[in-house]
Amino acid sequence: MEKKELLYEGKAKKLYATEDENLVISEFKDDLTAFNGEKKSSEVGKGALNNQISTKLFQLLEEKGIPTHFVAMLDENHMLHKKVDVILIEVIVRNIATGSLTRNLGIKDGTPLPFTLVEFDYKNDELGDPKINDQHALILGLVDFQDELDKLRRMARQVNDILKPYFAEKGLNLVDFKLEFGKDKDGNIILVDEISPDNCRFWDIKSGEKMDKDRFRQGLGGVRVAYEQVLNRILGK
Ligand code: 5GP
Repeated sequence: MEKKELLYEGKAKKLYATEDENLVISEFKDDLTAFNGEKKSSEVGKGALNNQISTKLFQLLEEKGIPTHFVAMLDENHMLHKKVDVILIEVIVRNIATGSLTRNLGIKDGTPLPFTLVEFDYKNDELGDPKINDQHALILGLVDFQDELDKLRRMARQVNDILKPYFAEKGLNLVDFKLEFGKDKDGNIILVDEISPDNCRFWDIKSGEKMDKDRFRQGLGGVRVAYEQVLNRILGK
């Protein structure tokens, strides 16, 4: 399957049409951005690592019954996937308090949460992805029905129930992550985008070391090495 015209360029991926109207190709870029695009850099090989990590995780989730947009990894930087209407809600899942939860509510960094927290952010760069509740989502028309919001929450928890023990076995704490969903040609809600250290936080269980994009956000260095470590642990190396 070959790339046709460029449909869209995001911060971390380019999206191309294919000869099949229901399939598209994502090209994973090496670009790194943070703070709503204010901090920018690039890390050679990052795109290929995220493509491989996302491929493995989408395959795992599919095996466990979560519908995703994944079809095939085409080469180092390219993934073939279903075309969807993206739902403009970022579904944030948290097991341990850090990042904006700590900043916004003052919950001490590193506090394990008594239960898994699921939040919604409005995917809108101009507004800086503000946090929203169900009523905001319905008023904005991001989905048509409350049922769909309940489904997003349910699917996000299922993903966490699969990925948290999976990474724990590999010595990584799945601290929090962001999921995106879309509707396929039949109107089914499926998991889309990517699952990688760009949108998940992983902390090494033994050392507490950060193994994700916080290394870039916080200027800690060693971004590519950390992403490689995450892939190697997934591959059991
Ligand atoms: P926080 O709200 O603490 O900044 O982020 C919570 C989790 O969601 C983190 O794992 C973070 O990587 C992810 N996340 C939240 N918003 C975004 C976003 O706009 N882009 C990406 N790539 N990840 C996000």
